[in-house]
Amino acid sequence: DGAQVSQQKLKLEDIFIAVKTTGRFHKTRLSLLLDTWISRTKAHTFIFTDTEDGDLLLEGYNMVVTGCQSDHSQQALSCKMSAEYDGFMASDKRWFCHVDDDNYVNPDALLALLSAFPQDGDIYVGKPSLDKPITAHELLEGNATREVRFWFATGGAGFCLSRRLARKMAPWASGSRFEETSAKIRLPDDCTVGFIVEKRLGISMVHCPLFHSHLENLLLISHRGIPQQVTLSYGIFENKMNSIEVKGSFSKEEDPSRFKTVHCMLLQHPKKTQHTCDQ
Ligand code: UDP
Ligand code: MN
Repeated sequence: DGAQVSQQKLKLEDIFIAVKTTGRFHKTRLSLLLDTWISRTKAHTFIFTDTEDGDLLLEGYNMVVTGCQSDHSQQALSCKMSAEYDGFMASDKRWFCHVDDDNYVNPDALLALLSAFPQDGDIYVGKPSLDKPITAHELLEGNATREVRFWFATGGAGFCLSRRLARKMAPWASGSRFEETSAKIRLPDDCTVGFIVEKRLGISMVHCPLFHSHLENLLLISHRGIPQQVTLSYGIFENKMNSIEVKGSFSKEEDPSRFKTVHCMLLQHPKKTQHTCDQ
């Protein structure tokens, strides 16, 4: 029964990992993930996109082609987050984690983090992008608005929700409701998750420094600390590549994101070989 299941030790396969991407990033950003961390989490990683990709389907990836627009608008991104949530709810997984297609996920660190929480708790864990809660103006009936303040986890750093909490979010998150909630506060999808959890349900986000987006200076992550980090990222900041600093099998030209290098470094411990790491 439910009580017994919740006491069972959490396994990596119990974690639903949703990756948000778009057609024009399949061959660039997404393929880097497939060659690195997704090679270890393929069966329970779900790729939410807007464009069919026969090659990826044939290779056995879980592809979800949403009917969402393929732009960077608040509406398009909320549409994809809504599909991720519904996809998780329809699955039998115990945790929902969202990442962007410029995130590296360390499966061992993710499992260790989520295993440390009560498995039957209401958990929303991630890293805030601001040092204070965001202020939103919630639209009420008849053009009135109300100021609301709440914490949210940056989507670009990844975040996770326990199933029990995800279930409680349904009145504001399932089906068309997620986009409606997002429109009500006129903020992006990641803020909407924070709003639902903190303001609708009154549950506080767990702030965790182990998630990373390219909005922070990734050079500040120490080499020694890399194996403990749950997510990493990369991106261009002020015309320069913002990525973690790690030496290894690949030069900066071959591996500007450092994801291949980190992947090989992490695999040295369990002594697994991976085609990405053979070179
Ligand atoms: N994205 C998308 N459609 C777009 C642009 C981006 O679905 O037209 C996705 C992208 O695949 C990524 C996320 O939105 O998972 C964030 O995009 P990006 O990293 O380009 O921008 P950021 O918001 O991090 O600056
Ligand atoms: Mn990004």
